[in-house]
Amino acid sequence: MNTNERWVKHITPKSEDFSRWYQEIIQKAEMADYAPMKGMMVIRPYGYAVWENIQRGLDARIKATGHVNAYFPLFIPESYLQKEAEHVQGFSPEVAWVTAGGKEELEERLAVRPTSEAIIGPMYSRWIRSWRDLPLLINQWANIVRWEKVTRPFLRTTEFLWQEGHTCHETAEEAEAETLGVLEMYREFVETELAIPVVTGQKTLREKFAGAQMTYALEALMSDGKALQMGTSHNLGQHFSRAFDIKFEDRGQKLQYVWQTSWGMTTRLVGALIMVHGDDAGLRFPPRVAPVQVVIVPISVGDWKSTVLPAANAAADALRAAGLRVQLDAREEATPGWKFAEHEMRGVPLRVEVGPRDVKSGQAVLVRRDRRVKETAALDGLPVRVKPLLDEIQESLFAEAKSFLEANTRAARTYPEFKEILENERGFLRSGWCGEGGCEDRIKEETMATIRVIPLNETGPGAGEACVCCGREAKARPYFARAY
Ligand SMILES: [Zn+2]
Repeated sequence: MNTNERWVKHITPKSEDFSRWYQEIIQKAEMADYAPMKGMMVIRPYGYAVWENIQRGLDARIKATGHVNAYFPLFIPESYLQKEAEHVQGFSPEVAWVTAGGKEELEERLAVRPTSEAIIGPMYSRWIRSWRDLPLLINQWANIVRWEKVTRPFLRTTEFLWQEGHTCHETAEEAEAETLGVLEMYREFVETELAIPVVTGQKTLREKFAGAQMTYALEALMSDGKALQMGTSHNLGQHFSRAFDIKFEDRGQKLQYVWQTSWGMTTRLVGALIMVHGDDAGLRFPPRVAPVQVVIVPISVGDWKSTVLPAANAAADALRAAGLRVQLDAREEATPGWKFAEHEMRGVPLRVEVGPRDVKSGQAVLVRRDRRVKETAALDGLPVRVKPLLDEIQESLFAEAKSFLEANTRAARTYPEFKEILENERGFLRSGWCGEGGCEDRIKEETMATIRVIPLNETGPGAGEACVCCGREAKARPYFARAY
């Protein structure tokens, strides 16, 4: 075993200990590091570049659907947070408080935002006067603090980054259409850009956002068989507009409370990318969000600096000119073999090798990270081959994740069967449910599985299908899973 192989092998295999693999790969690929404070992380440049690509793709979609960005304060006065009873109850165990400014004790303590409904609401009540001001469609990119007990880099940290949309509408129907429109925007974004297939639907009342009328979510399956909530879209009804007095004069000159929505996606998506696509050799980024899409490694033998390097440089320029994110790795202190292993571990979708013989024959060797398949391509006009190849890698990663999701979605008709599948295989379970919170609680207590979503636009449970827990008639067929 040579040095670079040993270095790569140092990562705990994913199949052996998924959780250790996840922690190790994050450190080794320099995605993030632990901060001195418990539960907090530093997003390192390579990890932040992934987040920037996620932001770019999502922000474009948010704007294309008519929303605009703004920024609201980090602090929320306690009295504001308390205005919506269910909201404050849901969030109070996780709120961080500011009690002093310098040496002066504050008259009213300030919450560090755990979400922004309670600071945006009072502003909306000042801005909205008539139906002409609606719909109001605002998004903000911000950081959030929730004092979590159990944390894991990207998936759950005390401080995280997100976007939160907050909209106001004239009618309940429009608010519901917005909530579902955003859910669909999120689904398309995650599947297209992140190459992660999802299931979407409603949350149960027990799992909904504190203060919402209804929460919709998208859920993905990580490769250890546990589910991860990828984003949520809430129909807030008039809960917050009544609490914050957000009224408008309607088309008949009558005063009405607005109908609201809120929705968000977070840096947790970076964790999902790692957990869905990674393999024993490290990360595998889908090209559309990869910080580096193509790495060019010149084979450093003989007089490579005067022969190979110029050709490698020209190839890098041509690929950059074609709009690709390219790194030329001409480090002298590392061998080509070391570099291959390192960029594989960091998940660069495509490697281009250029050696002395390649230069003579006007060719380069292309190696796909996803399948580790090699091919040769003409150096002249390299982008003509590389661009479609990156598209193929993107599609192939999605297809692989999709077949994993399908293979790991199982139906269970009886409770023993349900428990057995969760013990041995995990994944998503489709089973009948009577709609009662009691059964939901019992299933959670006994199996650690929760109802992830109840799918929409699907024909309900078949005739005669029973609740997997109590045996009464089923009202829905949710997706159950153990989740992060
Ligand atoms: Zn039941």
